[in-house]
Amino acid sequence: MLSLVTHPAYDIPLPDGHRFPSTKFSRLIARLDRDGITSAFTSLQPDPAGRTDLWRTQSASYVDAVAAGTLDSEALRVLGLTWSQVLANRSFLAVNGTLLAARQALCHGLACHAAGGTHHAHHGHGAGYCVFNDLAYSAVRLVDEGAVRRVLILDCDVHQGDGTARILADRPDLFTCSLHCKANYPARKATSDLDVEIDRHADDAAYLDILHDTLRRLQDMITPDLVIYDAGVDIHEGDRLGLLAVSYDGIRQRDATVLRHFRSRGIPVATVIGGGYGTDLDEVAYRHSLVFHAAAAEHAAG
Ligand SMILES: [Zn+2]
Repeated sequence: MLSLVTHPAYDIPLPDGHRFPSTKFSRLIARLDRDGITSAFTSLQPDPAGRTDLWRTQSASYVDAVAAGTLDSEALRVLGLTWSQVLANRSFLAVNGTLLAARQALCHGLACHAAGGTHHAHHGHGAGYCVFNDLAYSAVRLVDEGAVRRVLILDCDVHQGDGTARILADRPDLFTCSLHCKANYPARKATSDLDVEIDRHADDAAYLDILHDTLRRLQDMITPDLVIYDAGVDIHEGDRLGLLAVSYDGIRQRDATVLRHFRSRGIPVATVIGGGYGTDLDEVAYRHSLVFHAAAAEHAAG
């Protein structure tokens, strides 16, 4: 069984012209339907996380401010989003979406979340379009309940997973690895367990060389019970915020390489979509669809 975790309430209402592609979540599902690939998946919907569940990785005051709509103007500026009840609701849903995909991966080896990767969310504040950190939350919950002992969060979004690294800084059992463009946001980087900085304009060959080398290094550093893979597509050459020059084929090769690497070692993988930015939202949705095709192919190959 190959699960696709999604929810019809994932889209974020934002003013026209906002840099965050607010309807990419529903467009992604429409794209997967059009591609005829949803039949390869079993669709599942998460329930919203409880406020106290989130207190494991986010401060109670911040969680409550998101729920109540009482974030101040500075907090909203750093977050980069406009507060709405819809935004609050989808934020509590999406963290559990990643957790649900991770649980499905533990049962079936591989599962995909059609959202997630909100890696700039810190313990006490959101940032960079990320309200709550689904990666840290899911990993901590699974360890706390004894489902796993060690988790690798492999973050291949073009931006550093700074929030994840800081939230999990004192958790040696939860290994954070971020492959990101050095010149990109955030300006002040955190320290992941393994940071791999990529120079701007890296093309497919350069990127994939670095990926292979990173996977080799990780093998000597951790044997995880679960990998949460942030398949951010803002590494694409056409991305509005990324600074790399990776093609569609490069993204396909990246995703296939990561999935095969861990699956061939019997290590479950849950994927999240991460970042992807552009003015043509269907194009962005197409880029995000690639990891689902990679997962379907990997699943079919057994
Ligand atoms: Zn990003």
